[in-house]
Amino acid sequence: MKILIVNAGSSSLKYQLVDMDGEKLMAKGLVERIGIEGSKLTQKVNGQEIVFEQPIKDHTEACSLMIKALTDPEKGAVKHMDEIGAVGHRVLHGGEAFTASVLINEEVKEAIRANIPLGPLHNPANLMGIEACEKVMPGTPNVAVFDTAFHQTMPPKAFLYGVPYEYYERLHVRRYGFHGTSHRYVSKRVCEFLGLDRFKTRVITCHLGNGSSMAAVDCGKCVDTSMGITPLEGVIMGTRSGSMDPAVVQYIANNEHMTVDEVLNMCNKKSGLLGISGLSSDMRDIDAAADSGHERAIIARDMLIHGIRKYIGSYAAVMNGVDVIVFTAGIGENGAELRERVMSGFEFLGAKLDPVKNVEGNRKESIISTDDSKVKICVIPTDEEIVIARDTLCIVTGKPIE
Ligand code: ADP
Repeated sequence: MKILIVNAGSSSLKYQLVDMDGEKLMAKGLVERIGIEGSKLTQKVNGQEIVFEQPIKDHTEACSLMIKALTDPEKGAVKHMDEIGAVGHRVLHGGEAFTASVLINEEVKEAIRANIPLGPLHNPANLMGIEACEKVMPGTPNVAVFDTAFHQTMPPKAFLYGVPYEYYERLHVRRYGFHGTSHRYVSKRVCEFLGLDRFKTRVITCHLGNGSSMAAVDCGKCVDTSMGITPLEGVIMGTRSGSMDPAVVQYIANNEHMTVDEVLNMCNKKSGLLGISGLSSDMRDIDAAADSGHERAIIARDMLIHGIRKYIGSYAAVMNGVDVIVFTAGIGENGAELRERVMSGFEFLGAKLDPVKNVEGNRKESIISTDDSKVKICVIPTDEEIVIARDTLCIVTGKPIE
């Protein structure tokens, strides 16, 4: 079966077409600047590129154009959209309603809508993507795969905040966690790669990209994660502050005559590596500047390393030890130097990085610990799309999701 994977943002729509017979990527595309001047679609099929530059008013138009590109007689991937068996959608916030991927119906859409207050930027866009596909591909089943679902196994002691319980009951205030599809994929894949039984293995997953999060995966179940009610909590990120005393928000708001919304916007968009370094949110720029002695770039990088190390230590404590530490996403997969700095001095935990294997391990599935390291340290490139495609296939064919 051919499955279309859709990741709809507020002004963009990324898509991939995968032939599940062999899990072959057939097409990859991006619609940018939806509803803004300069909209365009770019698609690649077997190295052949299609570019449509034209006004794209909304997500329905974006989906219609996607169909036009996918079925292009010369550079398309299919003759007719009927060949596509199902669509899998990435959805940010499933709240507590979804512990796994689901077939989309009116009730599911209502629940995604009900979670808009928890994911105000992403959930409306995800819904627009779903409704646009329903409109332009009538009869094709749609499946939702949630970023939060994998973390729903956390116990209350890990997911509750220490505010009065009524806020959890009335307003659903709790830690949800994000990047769940990635944590789920790499924690499972690393066990397959190492020949370990994932239901007997304690894994710490480090998803380090523009947004970064950590998770403790104990015998296949997530027991703790660093992101919270929104993706702002946890380690310092490209432009996000990560965890801090919430009184900082009040203090800055009062002193700078800013509203809470304005301060939080600053915490989301102008903080993190960018805010500390004053240079860039991109780790490559931070690395280059830090290596040439830029003081604040050095501090920004050290803050990230310090944060990751704290989570590794605390998650080892949460699981009474750790068997595997895995790095993934842009920084995790490519940043050999950062991995070396993060793992330095963890011999007391039984984790010893091999500096040569570490450098060779960039961008591929690899073991980067020494042969005698009790804890295996690995790089596993993440693949959220394949998880969405596999879940979608299972759901539409009635097979259990792994
Ligand atoms: P997103 O969260 O947007 O999916 P990615 O997973 O693509 O982000 O990660 C982007 C981050 O990865 C950026 O900070 C980028 O600088 C970093 N990155 C990419 N290549 C390297 C590299 N060679 N060394 C260090 N960091 C890198």
